[in-house]
Amino acid sequence: MSSIQTDETLKSNLLRIDGRGYKAYKDIRGVYEFPEFTLFIDYVQGDPFASPSRMRVRVPQRIAQYPPETFATGSRRVGLENYLLVEFDRAIRQVAARRGSGKSGLMQIDAPGQEILERTAMRVTADFVEARFAIGLPAQGRRVLGRQAVAMLCEDLPQVVMSALRYARNNTKILHRFVAVNEDADYLRAQLSGRGLIAFIADGSILPRRSGVDDRPLTGDHVIAWQSPPELAVSFDLPNAGTVTGTGIPAGVTLIVGGGFHGKSTLLNALEQGVYNHRPGDGRELVVTDAGAVKIRAEDGRRVAGVDISPFINNLPFGLDTTRFTSDNASGSTSQAANILEALELGASVLLIDEDTAATNFMIRDRRMQALIAKSHEPITPFIDRVRQLYTEHGVSTILVIGGSGDYFDVADLVIGMESYRPQELTAQAKAIAEQFQTGRKPEGGDAFGEVQSRVPLPQSVDARKGRRDVSIKTRGQQVIQFGTETIDLSAVSQLVDVSQTRAIGDAIFYARERYMDGKRPLSQILDLVMRDIAKGGLDVLNGRPVSDYASFRKFELGAALNRLRSLRIKT
Ligand code: ADP
Ligand code: MG
Repeated sequence: MSSIQTDETLKSNLLRIDGRGYKAYKDIRGVYEFPEFTLFIDYVQGDPFASPSRMRVRVPQRIAQYPPETFATGSRRVGLENYLLVEFDRAIRQVAARRGSGKSGLMQIDAPGQEILERTAMRVTADFVEARFAIGLPAQGRRVLGRQAVAMLCEDLPQVVMSALRYARNNTKILHRFVAVNEDADYLRAQLSGRGLIAFIADGSILPRRSGVDDRPLTGDHVIAWQSPPELAVSFDLPNAGTVTGTGIPAGVTLIVGGGFHGKSTLLNALEQGVYNHRPGDGRELVVTDAGAVKIRAEDGRRVAGVDISPFINNLPFGLDTTRFTSDNASGSTSQAANILEALELGASVLLIDEDTAATNFMIRDRRMQALIAKSHEPITPFIDRVRQLYTEHGVSTILVIGGSGDYFDVADLVIGMESYRPQELTAQAKAIAEQFQTGRKPEGGDAFGEVQSRVPLPQSVDARKGRRDVSIKTRGQQVIQFGTETIDLSAVSQLVDVSQTRAIGDAIFYARERYMDGKRPLSQILDLVMRDIAKGGLDVLNGRPVSDYASFRKFELGAALNRLRSLRIKT
């Protein structure tokens, strides 16, 4: 058993079990030395219809030969790995064939979407390149198709590996673009705060997407590329792209105004996604937002656990406590308040809000309404009375799409107007109008935002057990985690962009619970410890076995998932 197994061993084993029951495949688990790489068969599926088998290949750098500068830093390495995923995915599509019943013949790797995320499916080190993928082992009915398996594993796979995972066979121009683009975006994001900025949109960027379900760039003659208003133009010197010019959005309170259908939400969406880097050709390669930017929206119906929403909501009917607000069915305004305070609790630096998905009564209470409904009968202190305090007291900036209320002119540092998809600098004009037409509204809620409370989650309220299973964590698409018997709904968490992030977050909740939730540590610290472990040991720390489909995520989205766990309880 301890003797070295080779591709020849694998081949003869597969031929030997040809025609036997599917379970015979279980024997091929193990490690095989191919002439140019090592194949690890980590998990073998129980039948042709079950979730596919999981394998890894490792190509030594002696053969892969990636120049050290292509993976010398984290930014470059992740760019390179994403390129290799695209290549590997392309190569398996070329050889893919149906080879029998169920998933027979399937070859699948966790290829990237528009974002460049770190993925466990591909890893480049100084010693090797490792790809992790899924294979549907071929069967006829439930009988092993040994010859088909040999074709897949001993012929197609080596072909895929040798064409996708060797520098000599890669498209070096595209490879270097992935590396350069990712490095430039990370560099740019790291430069923002030193320049007093929270976001940058390079001239020439393409913001609109093809559709609500297709994240690729919109194409055609009618697409308008970003062109900065001269007043907001700033330049950066990037390591690869050289000098780039575009719009810098300074820290503070920024309004995006303009007529309906003029590109306001498109801009905000691009800023939301600017916490991630994007692949070459995406159009948003140089649309970069502060890493602490969090999209905030109303989310009625969500669960809220013990959040101090009193900066926004007070004196609820029946004396409900808003300093430890708990609800199984939060309203539009209370859910939006909770979303803000949860983001602040985790250290958000920028809030992104779109009127399209905000609760109107949370955003504004104008003079006439103040006259009709006395403050003593209105639990809500509207955002307009807190947005400046958030900046002055907590250093938290806001970018707000608001085409419907000019009351916000009074509290804005910057007003960007979108006119037929072209941005204009309208601050002075908006301020002059604010002078001319006073709103007459009285500020509400006092002159301080106050402290943001931190909460201590109770570990026993985070329970992954289900039936006889000690740990049952599943994802259903990008937006749902089945955690034990609980269903976590992430459909309103718009900065979660990839199902592989969702998968990793599901397991990270359990990891946080097992390692760091002790009934004493506050939530933010727990999540910091999880993120620290991942930064040190990679996403693999989340699981005992090598997982082929995790993607990197932020502390904020992990927190968002935990905060939406309906069983979550907070220490009182
Ligand atoms: P608003 O929020 O101002 O109502 P949207 O951002 O939703 O407007 O944009 C309206 C439509 O215009 C969308 O279908 C969007 O894809 C398209 N669009 C946005 N920006 C551009 C652009 N730069 N060029 C072409 N079409 C765009
Ligand atoms: Mg809109």
